[in-house]
Amino acid sequence: MVFKCQEDSFLKTFSTVVKSCKPVEVQIDGKAKKCFEVVLEDTIIFPEGGGQPSDIGYIDQMKVLKMCRRGAEAVHYMDCSFREGNTASLEIDWETRFDHMQQHSSQHLISAKLQQIYKFPTTSWSLNKDDTMVEFDISNTPKIDLLRLLSQLELAVNEEIKNNSPVKVTLFEPGDPGLQKAVTRGLPADHTGPIRVVSMVGDENMCCGTHIDTLSRLQMVKIVSIAPVKKKVQLRFVAGDRVLKDFNVRLARERNLSKLLQNGAADHEVVVSNLLKNSKLLEKNLKECSLEVASLMAREVKEQNPPPKFICVHRKEDANGFARVFLSEVGKDVIKLLTWGDEKGAGQMIFEGPEDVVADLGPKICEILGGKGAARGGRFQGAVSALKNRPKATQLLSEHFELVQK
Ligand SMILES: [Zn+2]
Repeated sequence: MVFKCQEDSFLKTFSTVVKSCKPVEVQIDGKAKKCFEVVLEDTIIFPEGGGQPSDIGYIDQMKVLKMCRRGAEAVHYMDCSFREGNTASLEIDWETRFDHMQQHSSQHLISAKLQQIYKFPTTSWSLNKDDTMVEFDISNTPKIDLLRLLSQLELAVNEEIKNNSPVKVTLFEPGDPGLQKAVTRGLPADHTGPIRVVSMVGDENMCCGTHIDTLSRLQMVKIVSIAPVKKKVQLRFVAGDRVLKDFNVRLARERNLSKLLQNGAADHEVVVSNLLKNSKLLEKNLKECSLEVASLMAREVKEQNPPPKFICVHRKEDANGFARVFLSEVGKDVIKLLTWGDEKGAGQMIFEGPEDVVADLGPKICEILGGKGAARGGRFQGAVSALKNRPKATQLLSEHFELVQK
């Protein structure tokens, strides 16, 4: 079965007859939905197939919820019922359809040039919201410069668009020798009737999708990324109207970056590179200062006479280095609670001192600070979520030592 959308992919409206309509429950966007299954004699609303998504379409101005091909039948899922034998007026969202046609035909063109220039067969493709991916096999080529391939391929593809050669769709009966030349990744198991072959730039491909009629309708193809994936390569591209949209998004991003960096786009690379260098230097200096502060604070504690019964220290920054120096220099004899992280939120705690004191008070302090942790020797360590409760932990320690004194 060849549907009207495949026979004439530029048809935007169409009238047909309702063959059947029955209530059903189907999965739509992952949810079970009660609706009506409407089978029409023919359709211009393309059902998903060959990697191309379904069209957005309307029957008698009501939106089609979901669309699929079942053997030779075009099945439309609708919110309302339709009377069998009645005429139905169909309309498609042309912007979406034309976009799908531009991306799908561009995929054929890219795959054709990959095969003709490099002998790289296409293994899969997908049409996504922002770009289209083509995956191809390079396992027969030991070394390949992907960026060079990208620019060569892009030039070759756009050269074909400039030449504006036609795109032809031919129908063959199954078993026709004419099919032998056509590339295929296999027909669906429930395929019936004639087989479509889409031809462009000397490439012939079995395909059920809707296609543009001449290459100039692709306007332009821009490859936006290329990357190896195991022994294959994935490239992503935008074609047709998507090129302008994508370019505008990138320009807006560039303008915003220019405002933030207070510099022209041409200087972005140098400015960001200098900022990153400075930031690394500052980070290094901060770590060194933190260690010096830890050492000074530890000395201050050791010089106290009489020695403090306990000390509580909090640091805002990630204090792994600080904790290591401070705890080792203060020594095990002083009972100390060290916390670090967001003053009112989450962070870490270490409670250190004699084993019996740590075993008794460590879990209580950890609970006050809303955390989980464990004692090991003379140290209780844990991740906490309520550093705002630090005054309560300090109070617990004060009360404990007052009691001990009495
Ligand atoms: Zn195709």
